[in-house]
Amino acid sequence: MKRFPLPFTLVLALVGLACAAPGSAQSPRAVFEVPDAQGMRWFKGNTHAHTLMSDGDSPPEEVARWYKNHGYNFLVLSDHNVFTDPGKLAHLVDSAFLLIPGEELTTSFDRRPVHVNGLNLPHVVEPRTDSTLVGTIQKNVDAVREVDGVPHINHPNFRWAFGKEILAKIERDKLLEIFNGHPLVHNEGGGDSPGMEEIWDYLLSRGKRIYGIAVDDAHHFKEEFAAARSNPGRGWIAVKAASLETKALMRSLEAGLFYASTGVGLEDVAITATTLEIRILPRGDFKFRTAFIGTNGKVLHETSANPAVFRLGSNRTGYVRAKVKDSGGAVAWVQPVFMARQPAAK
Ligand SMILES: [Zn+2]
Ligand SMILES: [Zn+2]
Repeated sequence: MKRFPLPFTLVLALVGLACAAPGSAQSPRAVFEVPDAQGMRWFKGNTHAHTLMSDGDSPPEEVARWYKNHGYNFLVLSDHNVFTDPGKLAHLVDSAFLLIPGEELTTSFDRRPVHVNGLNLPHVVEPRTDSTLVGTIQKNVDAVREVDGVPHINHPNFRWAFGKEILAKIERDKLLEIFNGHPLVHNEGGGDSPGMEEIWDYLLSRGKRIYGIAVDDAHHFKEEFAAARSNPGRGWIAVKAASLETKALMRSLEAGLFYASTGVGLEDVAITATTLEIRILPRGDFKFRTAFIGTNGKVLHETSANPAVFRLGSNRTGYVRAKVKDSGGAVAWVQPVFMARQPAAK
């Protein structure tokens, strides 16, 4: 093979550089997808609560009042296969509190509970069944989509109903409960069964765009508040949206513009092409530790600083999410940020 003299290869290299599009590199470096969150504000809410219309212990009005009086901006009353009409509670709605119509579509397959919440429903949606477990979950997700609602899949570890392989087969779902405040749902997994965070990382690592929500699944608003009871105030989300309106909240939810929490509040989450910055709301003398987590649940970076900042650098990962834990054990889960698609190299 004939060897080109050095000056000629140098000329080829220079031509190659000159032909590259402005800003592009020979081996493009990974960058984050940057959401457009300009002018948006944070709204706190819970998307899963029961009333006397199904198996809760209090009338819809009292349940809604509990959330309103505790600083929540929105609430979904999600009774089992019943439409608890928020239109009858319009007197509770104001510029700081919104009621979003919903339902918990409740069925089962082979004695495994299949519970799918429908948010922003126009009326009751009958739960559906199928000849397989995957089909049963899928049909309920689709039933919610058919009426332009937003589905979320509830407490998969409740009675160990279904695991990560089943969830990986579901389509058109963007939201999964990673924390549910009911005492019998096994958020943490156990024995040979993974917890919800591990399941979430499994799905994300397979390229599924799914966001993790925290909910109360509250039933008990009366008598003693205790760990063994299903009380409110345990799991919530804060959504970054243009306004406190159902459509705006649903759009942000399905775009992952929110964090889930069991008590840690965030001032803001700021995303640039190469950084993910989390500003934590201080609370008394509580201390915080933030882990930035990537593909297969790998911890990419840990810090006790506030703001907690992750720089993408040379990390090769499909997504980056963050988990902020305080010194009392409360957690905030920041939604995954994905890598932007690079233009194909020519
Ligand atoms: Zn349920
Ligand atoms: Zn429920």
